[in-house]
Amino acid sequence: MEQIIRLQPTFSHTIWGGTRLREDYGYKEPGDDIGECWGISAHPSGDDTVVGGAYDGCKLSALWAEHRELFGNVSGDRFPLLVKIIDAKADLSIQVHPDDAYAGVHENGSLGKTECWYVLDAPEGGTLVVGHNAQTKEELESMIRGGRWNDFIREIPVKKGDFIQIDPGTVHAIKGGVMVLETQQSSDITYRVYDYDRLQNGKPRQLHIEQSLDVIRVPAESPEKSVLHAAGGTAGTVTELIKCPFYTVLKAIVDGPLTIPGDPHFLNMSVYEGEGTVLGTPVKKGDHLILTAAAEEITFDGHFEAILSHI
Ligand code: ZN
Repeated sequence: MEQIIRLQPTFSHTIWGGTRLREDYGYKEPGDDIGECWGISAHPSGDDTVVGGAYDGCKLSALWAEHRELFGNVSGDRFPLLVKIIDAKADLSIQVHPDDAYAGVHENGSLGKTECWYVLDAPEGGTLVVGHNAQTKEELESMIRGGRWNDFIREIPVKKGDFIQIDPGTVHAIKGGVMVLETQQSSDITYRVYDYDRLQNGKPRQLHIEQSLDVIRVPAESPEKSVLHAAGGTAGTVTELIKCPFYTVLKAIVDGPLTIPGDPHFLNMSVYEGEGTVLGTPVKKGDHLILTAAAEEITFDGHFEAILSHI
């Protein structure tokens, strides 16, 4: 049974995207508006293709449907996670995601979206929007309906290596100049609260005010509760960044030989710096792989950093 599934990402082009996914990460994607690289995804909006090995050319969704043994025979009607690299050349819209319960009822059975960000790069003075300043539901409604965005939006400073968990109901936005590696539930449901009055092809993008008012949590959690300053870390270790009901996310800093136990189901792996080997197979910055249930023990070597995740 295959121990490594290597994936060819899919890309999305957006009004806020740039060129760094090609220039810094080496993806052969044309255009100057590349917003997202969906590195590990079986979502219908971007179903990745297996490269090499016994399943060369298969879609990840098909592998999940037909070869569940690769994933330790775990149950589930869809591959549960989605890993992206996001290049915010300009600000993303101020947005919020529903939880499973709300999405299941209002979005045709979709999953909700819990997500987290590992900050790959941030400019001097870079920020993210996490949470808001309304203290009551009435204040929230008045700020949003009245367009009092300066009162509403809560920006926090971030730097390379920070890690942020975004629970459903948390208002958020990635701001210009920041690149993140996002691990999330496999869902594409976003409610846009405010888009800076920007136009796309001459028209404003759709907002979702009523759904946003339904799902935004009031008051927001304190920023200290959602931001973990994970910069640095010790060479030759794998550190847990978060464990929540939907995923566990780990940061690996490989500096010479390192062996870790495999996962009974599967382990997602995205290399964001350096190069080396995994189970003897070469990997480099920008590579996305799944280490299957067949990999009982995983050996790393070389000099690289990666974000790993499992259910
Ligand atoms: Zn989001």
